[in-house]
Amino acid sequence: MENKRKDWIFDKSQKELEKYCITSGFKKYGATQIMKWIYRRKTFDFAEMTDLSESLRKKLANNFCAETPKIVDTKYEEDSDGYSKKYLIKLSDGETIESVLINYRNRKTLCVSSQIGCKMGCVYCETSGLGFIRNLTSGEIISQILVIEDDIENKITNIVFMGMGEPLDNIAEVEKSLDIISNANFIAVAPRKITISTCGVLSTLPNIENHKYKIAISLNAADNITRSKIMPINKKFPIENIVKLINDRKPSIHNKITIEYVLIKDINDHIGNTKKLIKMFSPSKVKFNLIPLNKEKKSIYLKNFETSDDKTIADFKSKLFKAGFTVTIRFSKAQSVNGGCGQLKAEKIYSQ
Ligand code: SAH
Repeated sequence: MENKRKDWIFDKSQKELEKYCITSGFKKYGATQIMKWIYRRKTFDFAEMTDLSESLRKKLANNFCAETPKIVDTKYEEDSDGYSKKYLIKLSDGETIESVLINYRNRKTLCVSSQIGCKMGCVYCETSGLGFIRNLTSGEIISQILVIEDDIENKITNIVFMGMGEPLDNIAEVEKSLDIISNANFIAVAPRKITISTCGVLSTLPNIENHKYKIAISLNAADNITRSKIMPINKKFPIENIVKLINDRKPSIHNKITIEYVLIKDINDHIGNTKKLIKMFSPSKVKFNLIPLNKEKKSIYLKNFETSDDKTIADFKSKLFKAGFTVTIRFSKAQSVNGGCGQLKAEKIYSQ
């Protein structure tokens, strides 16, 4: 209970800790030292931070707590190429979030959540069915990585903001977390190994030109009528705005924008849509990631939707590929544990 009066150290940026060190009469560099202990050495007990003066260690212990959220449930799925593991994590206010680790071919990709629930209302996504509960803080985003690295006793190699929530609707906390996640002194996941996936909140994506992280945009339709039906955000930022933003960008082989396209039977999977997509985009600027709709058999929220047939998916891919685009199909891992894209929905099992 003592902790209630203390600040949570994981919510502090480097700048904020530098300011704290200076105003408390210590050297600015103390902040980097503290953060190296926490994020690189995973030492959360201030008393063990032996290169800090004793007075700073004591002061930190008086002012900050460094408790990590707790993993309260996991679900594991394995196949011949690797495994995925879905984590239910309980935050300090009792809310729970989900993160999914996808461990395939030496890559350990963590799909992190940025919000509890979501405001965006995309009709094919289970998380939308939860409504919006609250934003995660930067510390809550970062601590998903910390507790899962601790669980697997290994480093995460890639991060995707494709868990619960819309990262660009919580951009300040997401950017604050990324400063620590991508800092080579701290969590050290390189920016090119970090993907921010957005449904297209373009107001917070102004400097796409200089973005050091990978950007993925969930397009999911080739015309505004369809897109507005399945993604309410399209009424505010329609397809032509997305296309303009992307096409105004200089081509970059190393940092193409990924266009995500969830294939939903008879809604957006007509082969004629590929023609429109080919006209809209250039292979030098985007690549496509086709995602067959994930659906839990019992889903109430997705009851009107079905996954496209295998042949339709293959034809869609082939048309785009023949037009020169790089196309991948994301057969979501972790589906049997409901950890696939759009399936993350923290059940409030501890709230009763
Ligand atoms: N809000 C962000 C990130 C979360 S969704 C976004 O919309 O991009 C991450 C990815 O999962 C997106 O590409 C989204 O289109 C996809 N997705 C959502 N629900 C899905 C479902 N039921 N089946 C397959 N993919 C889904």
